[in-house]
Amino acid sequence: MAETPSLARQLEEDLWILDTLFQDEPGVIASYLLTGPNGLALVDVGSGATIETLLNAIRTSGHDPAEVKHLLITHVHMDHAGAAGALLAHMPQATVYVHRIGAPHLIDPSKLVKSAARIYGDQMERLWGHMEPVPEDRLIILDDTSEVTVGERTFAVLYTPGHAIHHVAYYDRRHAAVFTGDVAGVRLEGVDYVRPPTPPPDLDLEQWSASIERLKALRARSFYLPHFGPVYNTQDHLTQLRDRLYAWGDLMIAGMREEKDDHALAAMLAEASDPQVAQMVVDRSPEAIATAVLRYEIATNYLMSAQGYMRYYTKLHPEALA
Ligand SMILES: [Zn+2]
Repeated sequence: MAETPSLARQLEEDLWILDTLFQDEPGVIASYLLTGPNGLALVDVGSGATIETLLNAIRTSGHDPAEVKHLLITHVHMDHAGAAGALLAHMPQATVYVHRIGAPHLIDPSKLVKSAARIYGDQMERLWGHMEPVPEDRLIILDDTSEVTVGERTFAVLYTPGHAIHHVAYYDRRHAAVFTGDVAGVRLEGVDYVRPPTPPPDLDLEQWSASIERLKALRARSFYLPHFGPVYNTQDHLTQLRDRLYAWGDLMIAGMREEKDDHALAAMLAEASDPQVAQMVVDRSPEAIATAVLRYEIATNYLMSAQGYMRYYTKLHPEALA
């Protein structure tokens, strides 16, 4: 089944979803473009390897990348912030917004790059390109009480740790909309399945549950997910995420008690989860199902998820493993 990937799709009068075509797959890593009198803004910018695609997507939406004034980052993982530093060369007026705890990693990405290189080895360049530093004078540091006005929207910054210790979501009260980053999990288009992205080193189920409760209390009409697209059944979506975070946790505890290694634990997650994904693909063709399973794995892979739980339980709940 051939699809023509669309780089830019208008969701609202002032809002576009841009597809970065990460690893040549549509529908895995998005950026959002906001327009309006306070200047063009992007929410998350994807990998350093997909900068040209992102610039093309902005042009496809009818806008000039050089006019972008604000880069709102939800967290500094490479699939969200990887392109930020390099984009500044194409966006002379742009400022980058990031939580206080994440800011040092944008100013000096060497630690992020080093830890990613340990995982990705010689795939580093292909997946992530070069992560350029963001000069300090082009950075705006956010805290939980910050407000940000871009395009024609004002956002309250919600500190929402659990997936990452420096994670924020951007809440637009007037539209009852939240640009969630990864705190609302991964739900690809055409599949009603929420997969928890649980990488090391920050995974914290207590923090994440509290962040989910915080999002639930907003009764939002829409979530905009980087992986991938808008979600309108926000309450059910969050319930599914929370239930699965803990179901996976129980599974990982059982595996860790049997002293399985990370690869064996990842296989347990795949065995439990892939059939559930397959069941929830709207298009029932075998090709569509295989594509969905593949794209979830690209968006958030099982091995990293298993490693996240291993670190979380070993460090924070050794009693659960006894
Ligand atoms: Zn992500």
